[in-house]
Amino acid sequence: MTTLQAPASFTQENPWEMAREQLRRVASLIDIGENMLNVLLECKKAVEVSVPVRMDDGSVLVYDAFRVTHNVARGPSKGGIRYHPAVTLEETKALAMWMTWKCALMGLPFGGAKGGVVCDPKSLSQLELERLTRRYTTEIINQIGPEVDIPAPDVGTSPQVMAWIFDTYSMNKGYSVLGVVTGKPLHVGGSLGREEATGRGAGFCVREALRKRGHELAGARVAIQGFGNVGANLAFLLEEAGGTIVALSDSTGGIYNPAGVSVEAAKAHKREHRTFEDFAEADAITNAELLALDCDVLAPCALEQVITGDNATEVKASIVCEGANGPTTLEADEILHDRGILVLPDVLANAGGVVVSYFEWVQGLQEYFWKLDEVNAKLNDIITRAFEETWRMHVEREISMRQAAYALAVGRVSEATVTRGLYP
Ligand code: NAD
Repeated sequence: MTTLQAPASFTQENPWEMAREQLRRVASLIDIGENMLNVLLECKKAVEVSVPVRMDDGSVLVYDAFRVTHNVARGPSKGGIRYHPAVTLEETKALAMWMTWKCALMGLPFGGAKGGVVCDPKSLSQLELERLTRRYTTEIINQIGPEVDIPAPDVGTSPQVMAWIFDTYSMNKGYSVLGVVTGKPLHVGGSLGREEATGRGAGFCVREALRKRGHELAGARVAIQGFGNVGANLAFLLEEAGGTIVALSDSTGGIYNPAGVSVEAAKAHKREHRTFEDFAEADAITNAELLALDCDVLAPCALEQVITGDNATEVKASIVCEGANGPTTLEADEILHDRGILVLPDVLANAGGVVVSYFEWVQGLQEYFWKLDEVNAKLNDIITRAFEETWRMHVEREISMRQAAYALAVGRVSEATVTRGLYP
């Protein structure tokens, strides 16, 4: 038996400390009191499991894995599952806390959770991935459930992975439990519009932010880092709305064309070659160069802490849309704010996914499914309302959009906690 070793984390700041510090700063703004702060600074539950998996060559690898619930004051916990070599417990805890704020900001009846397996899904065969997913699900089976904690996809996991989680849980119960997980494929209880929901929600936020600054999506020049679920869908939607996508990237590097990159052509190239390398209609750039491009909107849609104290002064975009979770460090956040760059924080900008996950959960519980137009219209309502509420607080209190979003969210979670009271 071999135990897979995780590589050193790519993050500069401890994400959990970063999330806690963000909370402390907001707590001082809205004065929730020390007792409440102490409760919210901790995760309710963190489970660490080992996941032995038989590989195709007959050997057994053991993977470290986690499931963390940060808070359930407003309802069952909700949050994605990440498959990535750099997953850590601290990162998972930070992501769980951010989910609590995101659900509260959107007004959803959920708390926050997150899960992760320390693995490189690209190096696994489909059968290995399935065995890993089924064993991980079994190890956390007492933690999850439609009324308890509802996972969803995140980096490195897909609708297929959600289908295996749904099936494993249902097999153990003896009947199909649609509400146990969201982001499922359509033919096993998924929701129309879920796959593109995070990108769509980010697109709505960019549209509203441009409007506040007297502009429209048409003609906006956009650079997007990350071409997975969030980045690729955002690119398609903004291009469709008349935006010019000047740059795209993935983990291997990026492409740049000031006149615009055809998203469809870039996707076709990536499908064939698995990278953007040698894409004829644009110049090759690095991920670092992409962040410093001259554009109107920069959307980091890959991993955490890509905009740091070292490169925040080089950002030229006037709007940063955080498609990824935690892409801006605390130091970078202050630099961008001081430079007058409008940062649309992750808890607002990438909340479209959890909103449509909520719709999928509701549809699953009712076993009654909605039309795509209905899903997208309801998503637009919720995101636009949350954007307006955040904007109003940002203007009235003269604080950043991140602080405004956190202030609203933390206030709502505190209110629910006080109203419910401390058990026993
Ligand atoms: P994904 O696995 O589908 O795609 C990730 C993309 O980022 C890929 O194109 C990958 O090549 C690229 N990437 C990885 N490492 C990179 C690096 N070092 N530099 C540049 N690019 C890199 O993941 P996703 O679901 O699109 O998630 C992306 C981010 O959005 C994550 O922070 C995730 O937590 C967040 N998010 C996702 C959802 C969702 O519904 N999928 C919802 C909310 C937030």
